[in-house]
Amino acid sequence: MESEFSTAEATLLERYFTNLDRPVFALRNLPEVVKGALFSRYSRTEKSLRRVLLDEFINEPDSGFERLAGSLPADDDLVAVRRAEEFYERVLVGYGDDSVAELAGAHVAVEQVSTLAAKAVEDSRIGISPLEKSTRYVRFDRPGAAGRYLYHRGPELAHPDYERAADTLFETYSSLVEPATLAIRERYPQEEGETDRAWKSATRAKALDLLRGLLPAGTLTNLGLFGNGRAFEYLITKMAAHELPECQALASDLHRELSLVIPAFVRRALDERYGAPAAQRLASTRNRMKALTRSPLAGVDRGRDVEPSVRLIEFDKDAERKVVAAALFPHSNLPLDHQTPDVAAVLESLLADRANRRQRAPRALEHAQYEFEIVANFAAYRDLHRHRMLTQDRQLLGTSLGYDLPSGLAELGMQDAFARGVEAAAGAHARLERELGPAVAQYIVPLAFHVRWYFRVNLREIYHLCELRTTPQGHPDYRWIAQEMFRRVSEVHPRLARYARFVDMGPGDELERRKSERRIDEKLDALDHRVR
Ligand SMILES: Cc1cc2nc3c(=O)[nH]c(=O)nc-3n(C[C@H](O)[C@H](O)[C@H](O)COP(=O)(O)OP(=O)(O)OC[C@H]3O[C@@H](n4cnc5c(N)ncnc54)[C@H](O)[C@@H]3O)c2cc1C
Repeated sequence: MESEFSTAEATLLERYFTNLDRPVFALRNLPEVVKGALFSRYSRTEKSLRRVLLDEFINEPDSGFERLAGSLPADDDLVAVRRAEEFYERVLVGYGDDSVAELAGAHVAVEQVSTLAAKAVEDSRIGISPLEKSTRYVRFDRPGAAGRYLYHRGPELAHPDYERAADTLFETYSSLVEPATLAIRERYPQEEGETDRAWKSATRAKALDLLRGLLPAGTLTNLGLFGNGRAFEYLITKMAAHELPECQALASDLHRELSLVIPAFVRRALDERYGAPAAQRLASTRNRMKALTRSPLAGVDRGRDVEPSVRLIEFDKDAERKVVAAALFPHSNLPLDHQTPDVAAVLESLLADRANRRQRAPRALEHAQYEFEIVANFAAYRDLHRHRMLTQDRQLLGTSLGYDLPSGLAELGMQDAFARGVEAAAGAHARLERELGPAVAQYIVPLAFHVRWYFRVNLREIYHLCELRTTPQGHPDYRWIAQEMFRRVSEVHPRLARYARFVDMGPGDELERRKSERRIDEKLDALDHRVR
């Protein structure tokens, strides 16, 4: 490609692009809002993007770009952002579409939030990628700076039973971590060729997996979010409408911090014209729905000790035809409902040659829909909640559906302490529910308790979720749910399900992390060899 820039222009531009002479290039050394503003110009200009930067930023005296262009000290990024923001306002006001806010993103760390609030944040599916501290790899009983266990405390939880029950849960967890780890190490001694590191990590992960059910939903966690402006705007509005004060405070915190890096994109999140009324509407809709519910959750015995279950509530009887018609559609000139496919032949051609689970099932599988209702412990809910390509919602977390006592813990003879801890918490929960209300009372519920939720999910996501979540190193609780989901789909649609070959219906590894840790060692070894 012939260069469209003079030598002087190229000198100005090269810092901001990975190349100046090819049609595909990446942007660098520019604040997010400037990148977003540049992209947004594509719909309104015939100029190339690099030319826009030159004409409308660098050579535009009012843009303040010289301050962005490296003459400022590196730590003065906020000034640069404000300047870019002014430019953004000038260029976009009047014709900026909502989707423009998807063109810039931010990384936000959210630390010391309760597990409940973390779930509320992660409930946003499109445009936000979260990653959260793991109950498998991290001990949760390290006290904070004030020497207290790390769980959410706030004026809304001012009840003597709350801290007492939460402390008991953490003390029980803390007192069992070491004995459980030692007992597991005795049961699964180090194997020939297994490094000390791999064995210790795998056995500790097993102990932490067994004990995570003791942690209350108020347990503090850390998460990182990478997302685009539009998704953050909606997240802030939703959090402002949330019934938990902790989430409302998070809305203000997120808004304040994101306003420093992508201000234009989160400006409306809480404003008087859009954000605040939208949040008010979300809150009043919730209240109207509560009033219309026949058996509101508060104060009602929701059925003691409901066994974990995965029920297929609804599926499409015509799914096979729909899936194969959708698969043929792009290759034909007939309407979707005029395809007359040979189901077996199409499925075979479409799916038979997948070599591993990362070779995705094609989009046509999205034409088959399933609705599941699941009752399982909240820890497993947490794991599966992170899947985004589906529609899901849960009921309030409570204690009346019963809890899971991990069989692995019973085998180690440690079930009594576990049961005492969670049952004390259930007693406290009943009082908190009565006196503080069911939403706030959720904080004391240990992750071992059952919760009821639904998944409305298409077959493509079934392939992905069930193949990923049944790998033998997964936690037994979510493995079981994924296996049950797959069983139900296989019963009603055996021909559609049979190509999900990487779903593992076996019993799983007894020491789940052992093989993964060995693989990590092999990779570390390979790296060492490469370095040498
Ligand atoms: C053994 C194991 C341990 C884990 N440990 C942790 C942990 O400690 N902490 C933690 O936070 N999470 C953990 N996870 C969760 C994991 O990181 C994923 O967030 C979760 O499994 C969702 O799955 P997914 O992203 O593959 O797909 P889904 O959200 O189900 O989406 C399906 C597919 O859609 C695509 N997709 C969806 N969203 C996006 C997007 N924004 N951008 C690009 N593509 C997208 C991807 O192809 C994805 O595979 C763990 C998962 C496993 C299996």
